[in-house]
Amino acid sequence: MTDDIPTQITLYPPTEHIECTQWGRLAPTLYHAGLIWHNYEQIVYNTDKPELRIWCIFTDRNAFENWRSNSFVKKHCSDILSSAIDIAVTVTPMEKHENVCRCINSAGLILRGHGFGNKKASVYCGDCSGYYPGYRVKELFGDLSTQAEVWSLISGHVYDIWMLTGELEEWAVNELSEPSSDLNKSGLQYASQLGKLIKKTVWYYLFTPDEDTTENCPICKSVCNKSKWDGPKFLCKRCKIVY
Ligand SMILES: [Zn+2]
Ligand SMILES: [Zn+2]
Repeated sequence: MTDDIPTQITLYPPTEHIECTQWGRLAPTLYHAGLIWHNYEQIVYNTDKPELRIWCIFTDRNAFENWRSNSFVKKHCSDILSSAIDIAVTVTPMEKHENVCRCINSAGLILRGHGFGNKKASVYCGDCSGYYPGYRVKELFGDLSTQAEVWSLISGHVYDIWMLTGELEEWAVNELSEPSSDLNKSGLQYASQLGKLIKKTVWYYLFTPDEDTTENCPICKSVCNKSKWDGPKFLCKRCKIVY
């Protein structure tokens, strides 16, 4: 079950050179507004007149139907909104996201970085473990959500470095798994700041290699309870982490 809406958007720019123009900015703006998922493609075709095609995946029907009235999109892409736009829902998504959170009021949340095959969401519900679409995260956390999103993206890049390079592999795995690494220190800090803002617990998802995962918390070493969520095996109430 997915709420994804894979979509092809066609724009008609005056020239095929869209770099550094507003035309090339619609897709990234939709992503920054939390309306589409991270993976999108855009290509300019120049047959009779230039056409810019964007393939993207809207997070849900609400995002798909209301993206034109999103204040961030209106601010950054006003010229595009008043130009011709063709929208077609497609049937071949590049990726699929399942299990959106439908809870009205989650008792707690989980912050986790990209990578490790997660669904590219950064905030998950502590009750149902479903993801929050990006725009819902922005409504909840305002400007702080942008900083947490940047942190989450960096985490995904570090994960890719671990997977794709030999040279920096050790550095990358240390950043991901060592609680005192720069990456984890920032992640823990964001989880705590987000929690203070909404006056709820925001658990931090700390990556621990399987062979190192025991009931002893990797930070405070106290004995932890089993986690009820998919993925992390334990949770430490003292450190507010799941791992
Ligand atoms: Zn939920
Ligand atoms: Zn602990």
